[in-house]
Amino acid sequence: MVFCDTHIHLLAPEWIEPAQRRIETAADSGIELLLQPGVRSGDWDKLIDLAQRHQTVYAAPGLHPMSAAEWNASRSARLRELCCLSEVIALGEIGLDALLDVDPQLQEQAFSGQVEIAIAAGLPVLIHCRKKIGQVLGILRQSGVGKVGGILHGFSGSVETARQATELGLLVGVGPVLLRENTRRLPEVVKAIPAAALVLETDAPDMATGPEVLIEVAEKVAELRGWTLAETAKITTANARRILKL
Ligand SMILES: [Zn+2]
Repeated sequence: MVFCDTHIHLLAPEWIEPAQRRIETAADSGIELLLQPGVRSGDWDKLIDLAQRHQTVYAAPGLHPMSAAEWNASRSARLRELCCLSEVIALGEIGLDALLDVDPQLQEQAFSGQVEIAIAAGLPVLIHCRKKIGQVLGILRQSGVGKVGGILHGFSGSVETARQATELGLLVGVGPVLLRENTRRLPEVVKAIPAAALVLETDAPDMATGPEVLIEVAEKVAELRGWTLAETAKITTANARRILKL
């Protein structure tokens, strides 16, 4: 069985042990692809360097809405350059976040600018969104995101929102929220959306203690869909590889 973690911050400062350890743990769990999203521009070279040194690791450089103030002409030019590297298979994590104390207009400029670059480069987008889903889907729809597709990361919305997203060509990133006792909407979403729209993620270290938690998420998805763990691995890995063109 092989799995893909479509969202993991292998180099986050919270980790004590070196990234090498997490890459080994992932390999032991059957995780053959680890996609690292960017958060700030200072990360980009490090993400790519790690990806160049490990066959299972890839990079999705970009500016998280918390770093929207970093968006300018030179960062935009740099991001365009990075899109040409073979280790760069998506742009992320980009989007809008109403819970952050960052000017919404700046967030929107950084988001739209990055979506445009991704589409021009033919790369899918990893979307971060909190309490702004209508606007996020609106921007993606207008920019023609269907040409490249993407993943709505850390999904916790409704079945209806998931449907709108999948109609736009986005996949739904299911993570450790599914393991919470009190989670109500996400199990419904996992059961309702097309199998071809499901991908897995840990968002470690924010949401999980390590990449191995992906297997627990996969087990829960299997239970909800009435699949075996092996079927879950096969389907979600095929989905990730299709959207990421690997
Ligand atoms: Zn993240």
